[in-house]
Amino acid sequence: NRRIVLAARPKGEPKPSDFRLETAPVPEPADGQVLLRTLWLSLDPYMRGRMSAAKSYAKPLEIGDVMVGGTVSEVVESKLHGFAAGDVVQGYAGWQDYAVSDGTGLRKLDPGLAPVQTSLGVLGMPGMTAYTGLMNIGQPKPGETVVVAAATGPVGSMVGQIARLKGCRAVGIAGGPEKCRHLIEDLGFDAAIDHRSPDMPEQLAQACPKGIDIYFENVGGAVWSAVFPLLNDFARIPVCGLVAHYNDTAPPPGPDRLPQLMSAVLSRRLTLRGFIVGDFASQAEDFGREASQWLREGRIKYREDVVDGLENAPQALIGLLQGHNFGKLLVRVKQ
Ligand code: NDP
Repeated sequence: NRRIVLAARPKGEPKPSDFRLETAPVPEPADGQVLLRTLWLSLDPYMRGRMSAAKSYAKPLEIGDVMVGGTVSEVVESKLHGFAAGDVVQGYAGWQDYAVSDGTGLRKLDPGLAPVQTSLGVLGMPGMTAYTGLMNIGQPKPGETVVVAAATGPVGSMVGQIARLKGCRAVGIAGGPEKCRHLIEDLGFDAAIDHRSPDMPEQLAQACPKGIDIYFENVGGAVWSAVFPLLNDFARIPVCGLVAHYNDTAPPPGPDRLPQLMSAVLSRRLTLRGFIVGDFASQAEDFGREASQWLREGRIKYREDVVDGLENAPQALIGLLQGHNFGKLLVRVKQ
């Protein structure tokens, strides 16, 4: 049983030496447990937060802990009522080949309905993040302008496509011309902007002639600075993630812009609301039903970026934080 543990807390960008690949005996399931073999491991930006000791919405990992992660696994052996060998399940087995589970958080998948790994992306946690954040906090109305960055990732791509389904104009921000082309040609965004272009703020203003009604915040940093002056009165900002800052070690230099922000919140009556997808757990069924239907009808599309081999997970996570992934980042653990 290979497993990858947290070897050291990263300072700034994670390094390969912050992870360690270990081998251990395959665990034995006790009565009331199943033995799982990992097929797919999801890599997600939140993992950077768990590696750090800073206080957050979830408990940090301890040094030596197996890295956390959403997984699709097959049941190898079952001593748990309701599960049988051969079942395919979605759960949180983490960065390892085998794990035992008492069934908590396990969801059986029907491989006939959709490729099983979509339960980690478009039909899973990232898709649900987009859906619940946009619908509950963004509250899109036809004709409004919705802006999202990290727009080719599993969260951003769903935000833009759902916005379009709700009759909005969707503007996506992504790193590089290939990703921008994908937004327009494959996902149907109305405009796409490369955040690495030196004139990104001007391009964004041009793409949003009527201002911005909803900014789905995935990144922070320079993108937020470009968005901020374009926000309309009563704009809504679901604050979902700040991936541009996850590797920060100190506050950015420069003047204190907090008073300017608060003054705009007041005078433009902005709604900024942070959320964690679990806050909307009661909407999981609505999401599952709507998203599967959109997928079946071809009204939403998704893209996967697959890395082979558990041993390559650390480098892939390091790359995710720098935008090297193109689509939902997955590790195929079992060939
Ligand atoms: P992605 O697959 O989109 O990966 C992150 C992307 O962020 C990179 O590919 C890169 O894309 C972009 N990025 C990185 N640095 C910067 C930067 N400095 N400026 C602009 N873009 C940058 O990730 P997800 O779709 O899984 O997640 C998107 C966001 O949603 C993250 O912030 C994540 O933490 C958050 N999230 C929040 C949840 C919640 O419950 N609140 C749940 C799930 C995710 P590019 O090349 O286009 O720049």
